[in-house]
Amino acid sequence: MTRNFPMLIDGKPVESGQVLEIFDPQNEELVATASRGGEEHIDAAVDAAKRSFASGEWSRATPAERAAVLRKTAEKVGEQLDELVELEIMANGATIRQATGFHIGYVAPHLEYFADLAERYEFEKAAPRATFPTLGQSTVRREPIGVVGAIAPWNFPLLLGMWKIGPALAAGNSVVVKPDEKTPLSTLEFARIAEECGLPPGVLNVVPGVGVEAGARLAAHPDVGKIGFTGSTGVGREIMRLAADTVKKVTLELGGKSPSIVLDDADLDVAVDGVLYGCFLYSGQICESGTRLLVPESLHDEFVERLVERARTIKLGDTRDWETDLGPVISARQKERILGYLASGAEEGARLVLGGGTPRGEEFERGHWIEPTIFTDVSNDMRIAREEIFGPVLSVIKYRTESEAIEIANDTTYGLASSIWSGDNDRALSLANSIEAGSVWINDAHQINCQVPFGGYKQSGLGRELGPDALDEYTETKNVHLDLSGRRDRRPYDVLLSHADDAEER
Ligand code: NAD
Repeated sequence: MTRNFPMLIDGKPVESGQVLEIFDPQNEELVATASRGGEEHIDAAVDAAKRSFASGEWSRATPAERAAVLRKTAEKVGEQLDELVELEIMANGATIRQATGFHIGYVAPHLEYFADLAERYEFEKAAPRATFPTLGQSTVRREPIGVVGAIAPWNFPLLLGMWKIGPALAAGNSVVVKPDEKTPLSTLEFARIAEECGLPPGVLNVVPGVGVEAGARLAAHPDVGKIGFTGSTGVGREIMRLAADTVKKVTLELGGKSPSIVLDDADLDVAVDGVLYGCFLYSGQICESGTRLLVPESLHDEFVERLVERARTIKLGDTRDWETDLGPVISARQKERILGYLASGAEEGARLVLGGGTPRGEEFERGHWIEPTIFTDVSNDMRIAREEIFGPVLSVIKYRTESEAIEIANDTTYGLASSIWSGDNDRALSLANSIEAGSVWINDAHQINCQVPFGGYKQSGLGRELGPDALDEYTETKNVHLDLSGRRDRRPYDVLLSHADDAEER
């Protein structure tokens, strides 16, 4: 008997009578079910969020009170790390090493960061006293928006949910989360933990459901003031359309096709490991994965040889084995999609130098497995260089001059991240100025740090998550002006009202 996870609405477990089946991607076994929410459950969750917001219990709590609940939740997440890791990897196929260190391991520190932010955020700031047009004092307030919707993807379900839940709660909003239909478990458990730690009922509601039903309703709901979304660029566009009718605020974290640029002065050992880490971590199922490798012609053959040799040491296998480097991809559909890209690479003339299909062996007969794959002789107009594959596929592109490398790097509709590998910091820092991407990592990859903003240029997104301004995205700005002149004949009024009589009297 598999365990069923109910929705969480208004602090209560809610069953819908319909379930989402959760399968382990490494062996396709049914591991759990979650109640499937439809439009009516989103409506109920939004109502609960609205009521909780209006009650003021959370929205008007002091930042220090909110921070205390978030910190307690972070502590409890730390205590329940192993359980949350298991809930995450049984659904999204991450390895235990990766989920412990990254997917779930990052959740508590990120939440603590948002708690700290709540305490030091300037919710109220006095503007300089105005003497023009009349004497007055303005105070600029940041107020919670009200009900915030969060729509999260399957790759880092809880962490990417947290990037929205954390700042939204820190600012005093109430939240409805719509996790991906394949991976709702860790978020449901998290919400339960948060309530146990003092979050009032209705402030955080979780409704697992299908995107076009539950997700679309949340994005369009008239009582939702803001949507934080992470997912594909195509669905991001749809979210904008759905939000447009009620002019909702949106933050979008979308896809990528990030370049990893090796300069001719790079330390090759560092660069080889860095490029592999940048591309193949979690089978390339990360929005900012460095999937296009740009190598100078002069280094190309040696670099590719070392890359392939090192990539052969990556061990695929049981996600719960601490020795395993790489697990499966998320679903049969995604596996077929990736295989389609592998065929297109070959058809368009790229040369396959590693992988290219499913690994052999009894342990790979079930589940969704793809070998780490490297194509060389890739030109930037091939589909494998232009489209986000979301699989373990590296496209190697040669360049001759640094300006050509910049041109290729920026010749993409995306702009999420980039790596530069160089032995000369000044040179790399100067090159970073020319890269059109929200993050540029020098001699590093996947450097997600909650203290700095993350997001995309171009079609990789809108707005930023994380960093010191994360709460800006989850607050409204209000200017409150107080007149200090006390005069009936104050300056702007005379545009409409004459005070000639007063003058005569005087
Ligand atoms: P997806 O866009 O298919 O789904 C994301 C979420 O949107 C899911 O919860 C889904 O149910 C929901 N959804 C789908 N259709 C919807 C609709 N019409 N209305 C409302 N909601 C809808 O993306 P995915 O396959 O889950 O995730 C992979 C994508 O996410 C990749 O493109 C990846 O680059 C991107 N991603 C971006 C970031 C980032 O921070 N920029 C991080 C991780 C993943």
